[in-house]
Amino acid sequence: MRDLFSRAGAGPVNGFRLLCAGACAALAVLASTSHADSIGQPHSTSAEQSGANLVLLGTAGGRTSWRGSQSAGIASAVVVNGQVYLVDFGAGWLRRYFQAGLGAPPPGQGLETLRAAFITHLHADHIVDYPSLVLFGASDGLAERRQKLKVIGPGSRGKLPPASGGNDGVADVVAPEQPMPGTVAMTEALYRAFAADINDNILDSRKPNPHSRVDVMDITLPAGLDVDPDRDPAPPMAPFEIYRDENVRVTATLVNHAPVYPAFAFRFDTSTGSVVFSGDTSPDRNLIRLAQGADVLVHEVIDTAWVDSLFPKPRSAAQEAKAHHLVHAHTAASDVGAVAEAAHVKTLVLSHLAPADSDPHRWAAASQGFSGKVIVGRDLLWIPLVPAAPESK
Ligand SMILES: [Zn+2]
Ligand SMILES: [Zn+2]
Repeated sequence: MRDLFSRAGAGPVNGFRLLCAGACAALAVLASTSHADSIGQPHSTSAEQSGANLVLLGTAGGRTSWRGSQSAGIASAVVVNGQVYLVDFGAGWLRRYFQAGLGAPPPGQGLETLRAAFITHLHADHIVDYPSLVLFGASDGLAERRQKLKVIGPGSRGKLPPASGGNDGVADVVAPEQPMPGTVAMTEALYRAFAADINDNILDSRKPNPHSRVDVMDITLPAGLDVDPDRDPAPPMAPFEIYRDENVRVTATLVNHAPVYPAFAFRFDTSTGSVVFSGDTSPDRNLIRLAQGADVLVHEVIDTAWVDSLFPKPRSAAQEAKAHHLVHAHTAASDVGAVAEAAHVKTLVLSHLAPADSDPHRWAAASQGFSGKVIVGRDLLWIPLVPAAPESK
């Protein structure tokens, strides 16, 4: 029996093994057979509709896999009673936000309905277009909001990760005075970097100071959790609440995306259904615990054959390090079905596709070991969150 966690990155594992590998009936991968509106056309019902929906804004994972692809970078939304909860700021998320019909009318406004935003971790592909919020938020409706937008993301790693190959001390890092800023420090640095434009808008267009409209918070880990990010960045832990309002309760857990720390998965529970976002992770028992019984699990996935094609052997040390990270800090298509089965979720949605090409058959192995429904994600796909047998629309 294969142990999914034997290559789960730094740190000890507890021997957790999945019981269904090879025994669970595989289902056919549903190659985005929904009736989601085509790219460029707003969804007919928009954010005004009632109930809860998952909306995939961007489905491309990685720093480069979206280049030349029709897919935007990784970003998702949970829409509950007309309020939008955003997860990650991949390349092109703001464009997709409006294309999905999430912007509040009239055209030209937009982010009044964005209630809160969550960042899984601070890798570039998840935050590359966070500056879109910093720069355009005030003119895209944040100024008209009744309440502050909450942005909730990882805090600082606390220390630099060890250099691959063991050459600590020779790396020429940037910003040595604060080399691992968390979400709050990153945001303040962006305000400083873009102060010319932001202050121009404050004075010339009478837009508000973003501090008065956006409330940014680093996620605080539960008291008593002692984590060594170099040894084990995701020790076994119970999910903990990071946000709650009248529409959603959001819980989080650490996942193993070594050497990144902290890296989070998020779960959204609504009155009609639940959805979990894996963030970037190798197969992870904390994620399985967080996702227990969820209606939908949105999980990252990587094609390891694609990695091999990117870095043919013989490899340089740098190529070997990059290939190692891609394979060991992510989840292979052949492993993700067993994760979904262990979590007892009803529907597995593949996103953060690496590579982000258009052939869903590449991901057929994701159905291995999973008895539920598999959907290969694509941009602008709406999936209702309902308690049983959700059907994409
Ligand atoms: Zn990523
Ligand atoms: Zn990442």
